[in-house]
Amino acid sequence: MTAQIEITEVTKRYGALTVLENLSLSIKANEFMVFLGPSGCGKSTLLRMIAGLESVDEGTIAINGRRIDTLPPGQRDLAMVFQSYALYPHMSVADNMAFGLKNIGVPADVIATRLSEAARMLEIGHLMERKPGQLSGGQRQRVAIGRAIVKEPKAFLFDEPLSNLDAALRVRTRVELAQLRHRVKSTMIFVTHDQIEAMTLADRVVVMNNRRIEQIGTPMDIYTRPATRFVATFVGSPT
Ligand code: ADP
Ligand code: MG
Repeated sequence: MTAQIEITEVTKRYGALTVLENLSLSIKANEFMVFLGPSGCGKSTLLRMIAGLESVDEGTIAINGRRIDTLPPGQRDLAMVFQSYALYPHMSVADNMAFGLKNIGVPADVIATRLSEAARMLEIGHLMERKPGQLSGGQRQRVAIGRAIVKEPKAFLFDEPLSNLDAALRVRTRVELAQLRHRVKSTMIFVTHDQIEAMTLADRVVVMNNRRIEQIGTPMDIYTRPATRFVATFVGSPT
């Protein structure tokens, strides 16, 4: 079951600082939506509000027509992949991937099936007994994605998942992600400050700056018809 996500007039403040102001957009089921913008523009805050790790000050967030912004994170049926991977260092890869499922009482045979499917999809079967410390950055990245996949969430939330990788690996992982998204049918929200990532991965891009959405469109729209001077400069297309 995949998610159609509706964000309506959302505002977020930290004390006197307004981070996001009256933000509205809808994300289609199975869409790969990329939020692109400079550091500090509120991308992570928005993702964390969708995940339930931050409260919403004003406005609503709904999934498939049901309001979720008041639900605890565990009831939202979403999976987040962090920039830092956030793997448990003392657990094996298999245990890292199984942990969240065990906690919610998924039967052992179902866990085993999901783990082996994810391992095959991500080609990490040979790494299942290792600890995170015995993995390369790219391998940790895949495990973090695997841990999200086995939850079979309604949507995946990625917060700059490639930014800790070196340049060559970043390109390779980007290509892998683009392929993965055709195998895993799900809504994907991906946050980045890297315009190449946005342009190569997205069905649609949301360009953000200074608390607001500057433009929403396909990569081709954004590149060939930038709506504002900021967009033109940020994506590097001619004005
Ligand atoms: P991005 O992910 O686009 O780099 P963030 O969402 O992390 O931006 O941050 C947006 C703004 O909110 C920044 O000015 C940041 O300093 C501020 N901010 C983020 N989290 C907090 C917090 N917990 N308390 C106070 N200010 C915060
Ligand atoms: Mg961020």
